Amino acid sequence: MDAIIQAQKLSREYVRDAERVLALRDVDLEICRGEFLALMGPSGSGKSTLLHLIAAMDRPTSGQVLVLGKDPQSLAGRALARWRNLHIGFVFQSFNLIPILTALENVALPLKLTALSAKQQMEHARTALKLVGLSDRLHHFPRQLSGGQEQRVAIARAIATDPDLILADEPTGNLDAGSGAQILELLAVLNTEYGKTLIMVTHDPRAAHFAKTIRYLDKGVLRPPGGEPGDWAGASRTAESQLSATGSEP
Ligand code: ADP
Ligand code: MG
Repeated sequence: MDAIIQAQKLSREYVRDAERVLALRDVDLEICRGEFLALMGPSGSGKSTLLHLIAAMDRPTSGQVLVLGKDPQSLAGRALARWRNLHIGFVFQSFNLIPILTALENVALPLKLTALSAKQQMEHARTALKLVGLSDRLHHFPRQLSGGQEQRVAIARAIATDPDLILADEPTGNLDAGSGAQILELLAVLNTEYGKTLIMVTHDPRAAHFAKTIRYLDKGVLRPPGGEPGDWAGASRTAESQLSATGSEP
């Protein structure tokens, strides 16, 4: 078994004013290469916190997470930025593109930290944009793109360095159903055809349908595999019956 993520007793506590919030409690999680995991749970259940800890965008209060066998917390500054840039692609709900850069320039940005020549950087960025179906939008600025197209640029940026792992935090949260479905199909292709390991946070049982495995967080506690809370079970059954009613199977 080729574990790409191994979290042990991972906890994160936030202190806000005099109040302590245990955002994540003793999470044990092992994710193998090639997995496509949907992480579900109500708002405030610690989903983003878990993704941020895996990406070393935040530090655990206790416990540890190894990514590709390495504890990224052992790195700092530029070394951490390089490591993250090479191994993890992060996709945000609100796209987080740089408004004054074109699609091509946005996608080329993470390649600036690599040893590639300027010409190679542009070639790689073009290839990534082609893969997401945006070869005809290279020189458009984010404001000239639809939300779905902006998210596809963000995905191209996330895969530009050919990382092993893609983390997506509610990637369809700001999109209409049609654009959202295109994004989910694209993520599924990255998993099945390009072998990327994916963790996707989502509220939407229809989105989770695209994943291979679903895990649930509840008040910072990761439920065991198959441990689907009652109310969520109802929600996903409803989504399934809606999908079969419209005949739009993912
Ligand atoms: P989710 O993504 O599932 O909605 P989060 O991981 O964002 O949940 O948050 C989990 C809990 O931690 C929430 O109660 C939230 O208010 C709290 N929290 C998250 N980030 C911070 C922070 N930077 N400072 C204080 N509290 C935070
Ligand atoms: Mg969140």
